[in-house]
Amino acid sequence: MALTGLEIYKHLPKTNCKKCGFPTCLAFAMALAGKKTSLDKCPDITEEAKIALESASAPPMATVTLGIGENRVEIGGETVLFRHEKTFYHPSAIGITLSDLLEKEKIIQRIEKINKLKFERVGIPLQVNLVAISNESNDPDKFCDVVREVMEKSNLPLILVSNNPQALEAGLKISAERKPLIYAAKDDNREAMVGLAKKYSCPLVIYGKNLEELDSLSQKVVASGVKDAVLDPGTRSLAGSLQDFTQLRRLALKRGYRPVGYPVIAFVKDSDPYQEVSMAATYVAKYANIVVLDRIEPEEILPLITLRQNIYTDPQKPIMVEPKIYEIGTPNENSPLLVTTNFSLTFFTVQPEIEASKVPSYLLIVEAEGLSVLTAWAAEKFTPEGIAEAMKKEEVEKKLSHRKVIIPGYVAVMKAKLEEESGWEVLVGPKEGSGIPRYLKETWQ
Ligand code: SF4
Repeated sequence: MALTGLEIYKHLPKTNCKKCGFPTCLAFAMALAGKKTSLDKCPDITEEAKIALESASAPPMATVTLGIGENRVEIGGETVLFRHEKTFYHPSAIGITLSDLLEKEKIIQRIEKINKLKFERVGIPLQVNLVAISNESNDPDKFCDVVREVMEKSNLPLILVSNNPQALEAGLKISAERKPLIYAAKDDNREAMVGLAKKYSCPLVIYGKNLEELDSLSQKVVASGVKDAVLDPGTRSLAGSLQDFTQLRRLALKRGYRPVGYPVIAFVKDSDPYQEVSMAATYVAKYANIVVLDRIEPEEILPLITLRQNIYTDPQKPIMVEPKIYEIGTPNENSPLLVTTNFSLTFFTVQPEIEASKVPSYLLIVEAEGLSVLTAWAAEKFTPEGIAEAMKKEEVEKKLSHRKVIIPGYVAVMKAKLEEESGWEVLVGPKEGSGIPRYLKETWQ
């Protein structure tokens, strides 16, 4: 269990030297208990104290790395229950199943489809992260054939799923270099699975039929020397899983209960595709660090990945684009000049609409701390003065022969002031990005 501030204080030098950035050792101890600082900030701590305080300075949830190279995924390491308290750090990894019962041709097709599950949203590349190879045949040879196929045709990290330690070891011999996640140590095979995880230095899932069994197994597995663990509480119903995941996260973060301070894996399967994706979405929100599903169609995966991106965006740092002038198409001196804020979602909504209009244009992106148009205007971050200054900085008068600038319809109210500040004629464009093509083709001309 986590130590209290006073318990930590007993181990500190008590010189109040302030080298840690805190006014007293007690203040440092309280901050350490609240996970707001780290033990290494005190340079005078003794080795004995370091050992005694290890549990207080360890993060409440371990970070586990799956795979290697540029496609590796980090999961866990979360410190808060709710995103608005601070931020979430490591987006849930999304895995797609691949059964060794499929025919070879179907296996190859499925791997190719998984590889193509790549998207771009607000300028950020997004993709699924894992291939979960399932040894449903219970045949080590078939399992190995599929592992080999995936190793050849995909760069994604793997989850090797089998109840059979021989099949897993055969798969690990082929794929250990890629640090696959081994699924799973259970009550009846714990020693064999721990042996594999240690022998091949791979992370290991611990499966318990319920939270009590999971807790007990986790203590045994970690005591055996496995450091990179992932937990599966065994429930498969939506309500049961949600309850278990929430309880595990609370125990780890609020109570500092170390045996469950590891990332959690969820498996989702339903004959109804909408239900399967809804369940996966629920687990992305609360609190699965890996979600494995059967669905593979882009229209099923994109909403899930979009949701994940929204949840795992730092709420204190809006996604922004660089404030500058962007050329869309090949604009000339007669082209329109549109202006908006540097909120990524705004930029990536407006830019394709201008492209769709086929009217080459200049798009002036103004620094507004990454806020959307109306929010930025209300917060006085998107002002006539700011726009006029950006126009001057980007020297728009040298690029254009006309003196007209188009502002978003939602901020029509700033027209007169911007005309005064810039000396340009201000045209009020459409409120929504979808109105831009028609506006540029019909009204601008
Ligand atoms: Fe106390 Fe260490 Fe901080 Fe100095 S650096 S005030 S000894 S906790």
